[in-house]
Amino acid sequence: MKNVIAIDGPGGAGKSTIAKLLAKKLNYLHLDTGAMYRAITLAALKEDVDFNNKKLLTKIAKKVNISFNENGEIFLNSKNVSEEIRSSKVNEHVSQTAAVKGVRDILVNKQQQLARNNKVVMDGRDITTVVLPEAEHKFFLTASLNERAKRRYEEVKSKGKNADFEEIKKSIARRDKLDSERKYSPLKQAEDAVLIDTTNLTIDEVLKKMISLIKG
Ligand code: C5P
Repeated sequence: MKNVIAIDGPGGAGKSTIAKLLAKKLNYLHLDTGAMYRAITLAALKEDVDFNNKKLLTKIAKKVNISFNENGEIFLNSKNVSEEIRSSKVNEHVSQTAAVKGVRDILVNKQQQLARNNKVVMDGRDITTVVLPEAEHKFFLTASLNERAKRRYEEVKSKGKNADFEEIKKSIARRDKLDSERKYSPLKQAEDAVLIDTTNLTIDEVLKKMISLIKG
C-alpha cells in the first residue's frame, strides 16, 4: 500500500508525537487511532454507560460521529474533544472500550477507509498487524516503562496540572497488560515491522532514523 505508514507500540513510546512530525514533514495526514477509541470512551462516559456492557458500547461506536481536521484534532459529533479525551477517567476506561470486538470492527473499517483515500501516517496498537498490514512502511516504537511514565509525567506537568509519577506508571502498566492480553487484536510487534527502542533517543533522532528508512 503506497503512501501509507503504520506505527504501533505501547502508550508513551512516542508514537503520536513522532507520527505527527513525520506526517508534517511528508505532507501526509496524521491519524491517531488511540484518539478514536478515546472519543468513544468519552461518549460512553457522558452517557454513564457500564463498561462491561459490550452491546451498548458498540451501539455508541455506531452512532457517534468522529472526524479529524487537517491539524489532527479530533471531533466528537462536531465538538473538538482533543483535550477532553486525555482525562484520567478516559485513561481508566479506554482499554475496556478497545477490547470490545463490535467497537473495533467499526473503527478498523473507518481507519481502512481513511487510508484508502489519503496519504497517511497512522499510529495505534494494531495498525501494522490488522488495520494496514500491507502498509508501505511499518514501525514498532517502544521504550522502557520508566521512560514512558517519565514522558507522560512531564507532559502533564508542562500543562500546569498535578501529576503523580507512581500513579502514571501504574496506569500505563495496567493498559500495557490489558492491551497485550486482550482477545481481539492484542498489541504485538508485526514480524516485518522495524523495531525502534526510543528509551535513549531524542524525538529528532527517532525521526531521522525513520525518515532515512522511508527514503531508503
Ligand atoms: O494511543 P493511546 O494511548 O491514546 O490509546 C488509548 C487506548 O486505545 C490504548 O490503551 C488501547 O486500549 C486503545 N487502542 C487500541 N487500538 C489502537 C489504538 C488504541 O486498542 N489502534
